[in-house]
This record gives sequence, C-alpha cells and structure tokens, in this order.
Amino acid sequence: MNAATKKMLRALPSVASLLEHEEVVDWLSGSPRAYVVSSLQAAIDDAREAILAGDDEISIDSDDLVAEAEAYLLERSTPNLRGVINATGIVLHTGLGRAPLCEAAVEALAESIGGYCNLEYDLETGQRGKRQVHVAEHLAEITGAEAATVVNNNAAATLLILQTLAHGKEVVVSRGQLVEIGGSFRLPDIIRAAGVTLKEVGTTNRTRVSDYQEAICSDTAALVRVHTSNFRIEGFCESASIEEMVELAHRFELPVVDDLGSGALFDLKPLGLPDEPHVQASLDAGADLVCFSGDKLLGGPQCGIIVGRQDLIDLIEANPLMRTYRVGKLTLLALEATLRCYADRDQAPDLIPALTMLTATTGALAHRAETLAELLSQAFPGEHFFVGSDVAFAGGGALPARELTTVIVQWRPAGARASEIAAALREADIPVIARIRDEAICFDLRTIRDDDLEGLVDAVASVILDDDDEDEEEDEDPNDVSLPVL
Ligand SMILES: *Cc1c(COP(=O)(O)O)cnc(C)c1O
Repeated sequence: MNAATKKMLRALPSVASLLEHEEVVDWLSGSPRAYVVSSLQAAIDDAREAILAGDDEISIDSDDLVAEAEAYLLERSTPNLRGVINATGIVLHTGLGRAPLCEAAVEALAESIGGYCNLEYDLETGQRGKRQVHVAEHLAEITGAEAATVVNNNAAATLLILQTLAHGKEVVVSRGQLVEIGGSFRLPDIIRAAGVTLKEVGTTNRTRVSDYQEAICSDTAALVRVHTSNFRIEGFCESASIEEMVELAHRFELPVVDDLGSGALFDLKPLGLPDEPHVQASLDAGADLVCFSGDKLLGGPQCGIIVGRQDLIDLIEANPLMRTYRVGKLTLLALEATLRCYADRDQAPDLIPALTMLTATTGALAHRAETLAELLSQAFPGEHFFVGSDVAFAGGGALPARELTTVIVQWRPAGARASEIAAALREADIPVIARIRDEAICFDLRTIRDDDLEGLVDAVASVILDDDDEDEEEDEDPNDVSLPVL
C-alpha cells in the first residue's frame, strides 16, 4: 500500500463525524437511526474499497459521502414487499402474487384488521367458535357441497387429504396426471410426503377407466384425479372422465379425490373463457372431495379450499396436521368478502378483478390501450408508442396453454436496448413489469388497471429522464416534462 492510499484511508470520515453533518441530522428526524448509520457505513465502505482498488479520484468529502449514503437510505426505507404494476398480461402471475383482491376484500381487511375480530368466537353464545365457519357456509352454498374447509394453499390441501384418507395405503393416479405445478410441488413427492404409496396407471397420453380398475386392491384408499392445470396433452390421448372414476370407485366403496388446482367455481365458458373443469361439475359428478386454490381462478387470497362429503371433511379437520396449515384472519376476511361476490353469479365477473381481466374484450382493451398510448405520446414526444394486438398466455397457474388475444402498447425505445429499459422500469418508484417482444417493450392492457396508468407514465418518465441525464450530462428538471394529469 503506497503512502497516498494510506493517507486517503486515514482521511476517510467516520460514521460518528458524518452523523453530525447538517443533512444527516435532518434524516434522523424522519428515519430510524439504525438505517441512517448503516447507510453512512455503506457509503464509507464503498469509498474504502475504491481507495484500496487504487482509485485516487474518489471523493472522500463529507458532502459527497452523505450524498452516496442518501441512495442507500432511500433503498433501506423502501419496503421490500410492495405493489408493482403488472404489465405482463399474465393475470394469475405467481411471481406477482396471483389474484389481485376484489374491492370488498380490501375494504373488509381495512375495516377489521387494525383491531380484533370474532375469528374463533361465537357472538351468539359467547363461547369459543370455529374459524372455518365464516367461509364454510358460503362455499357450500356456492358449490352445492355438503361441507367445506380451508387451509393455507392447495398444496397443503392435497397433502392433508392424502394424509387423512390414505396414510399407509395406496392411491391410484394416472401417469398423465403426475404433474409438477412449479416451485417444489410435484405430485409424486407430495404423495410420498403424506406417507402414501403411489400406484401409477395408464400411460402419459392414455389412461382408461379399466386401468384404474386393474390397480384397485385391498390396499387402495382412493382414486385421485389431478387437473393438468399448467400443460395440455394433445393428439392421441384419452383420460377417464370424473364420472367414470366415480362410478368405479363407488362400486369398491372408495372415495374419489379431485385436485382441480385452478378452481373455477362455475362454468366460465359462457364468459368466453376456455373450457376449464369447475368445482360444481366435479361435485355434481360425484367426486367425494374436491380441492383447489383460492388465489387462482376464484380470484381471492392465497389458500387451499377443500369441499365435499361432510364425514370426510370432519376427518380432515380432526387431523392434527390441520393445525399446521391453518389460515389466519387476514385470509379468512378476504376470502369471505370474495365469496360474497359470487352470491350473484352474473355479477362475479364484474366484481372479481381476476375474472374482469380474463374476460375483458379486445374492444375494451383496445380502447384503454389508445388512452395509454396517447398519454405516453403526449408526455414523451420523442418516443414512439404503438397500439397492437398480441396473443398471450393469460394464465400462470391456470388456463396455461390457452392463448388469449390481447392488446398491447408497444414501445421501441430510441437509442436503448429493450432489455435495459425493462430493467430500469423495474427500478421505478412503482416498479413496472413488462414483456419484451421483437426488441420492443410491451405493456399488456389486460393486467394494467386504470389506477396504474399514472404510475406507468411516471415510470417511463424516470427511465427516459435518467437516460437523457447520461446522454447530455446535464441535470434536467423532471418538471420540464409536462405529465398529463390523470
Ligand atoms: C396450483 C395447483 C396446486 C398448488 O396450489 P397452491 O395453491 O399453489 O399451493 C396443486 N394442484 C394443482 C392441480 C394446481 O393447479
């Protein structure tokens, strides 16, 4: 280490001295001291590293270090988990939290969550109650099921059902339905984890009801159907219908479990959506237990819902494992409010955001795309924004292989790579997550809400202004760009 480096290191201000800097004193009135201290430390550490790396241009001036620290403080002060603008067009995007909650659910949470609620308290008798009752009746009413219960997610629901009905025994599943849902959910693993032996039948593309029949033995505890919710087998294929499975299973006095996954509560085809098996059809066909997610096509909070025979639901609720998967009051408040939106089936698509987005017509999307393109063109006259149509996978955990026509606003940024712009959009105050196609940024109107438009224009502004700063080496006043008032 040469003398100059040593001298610079020695001259580096300490955290204690920076804490007395006028600006830092101001920060302390609005930010936790721990965040301020760690931000100053980070700025000093950066400077030390630069000096050690031989950078003798680096400023160790207090003002400059404080300015560096401010960026760290801003980062530390921003919540890690926060709202983003989903411009991907994927309605049930697992990475972006799947279904956005309906207004009624948001209100229910806002009203009740700051205080106490009658989670497990019977207001009539003053006795301890059951947390499931708040939603079980709604579920029974909507689906026609005898009974219902709720756990943390559908993976837990599947495991709990298997563990309760078939621990130490066998279940029969078609080879075409041994799915991986994503993350670590692989059906064969879940079956094993439940202490159940998997008896595979049929082939990847063809399984007949006779295949199930041949597999049934004294160890069999249930026939399980799994909805292939994230892929599709096409061509020379065949699978046993739920009716056939029920007829067979009931002859042997065995239950049929139907893991529906995406869990449309009723037939969505009349709404213009692709054919998706739905809960009511499965129960009508005689399935003994049906399980599905709360945050896929149902459009509610993350949870796993089990509906079906009362005696089997009773067994599941008596399973000690039930306690490990139990849902909290936030979930139940949001779920009850969501389920109430299904009381009038015709209104559900207007009330449940996921359904509204999935069923939006290209005409309506095009109209909103024009609005967005106009806002952007007015705000950024140097850039070009085009309305176009696209075919996208609206699903995620549901309607996966089904493409829906959608409408996008395309932006081919002047003098920058689309991937760089996409990365910068993710760093905006309200991060924007967009698709890229043919070197263009695509904002898909299917998942962009009217409330998002202002944030989206702001995000584009932050990206364009940043870019100008670098190009022209001059500080541009962000107020120079006249943003349209929305
Ligand atoms: C999504 C899905 C699951 C897992 O549900 P989570 O609620 O994400 O735990 C299980 N089975 C099927 C068929 C699914 O589609």
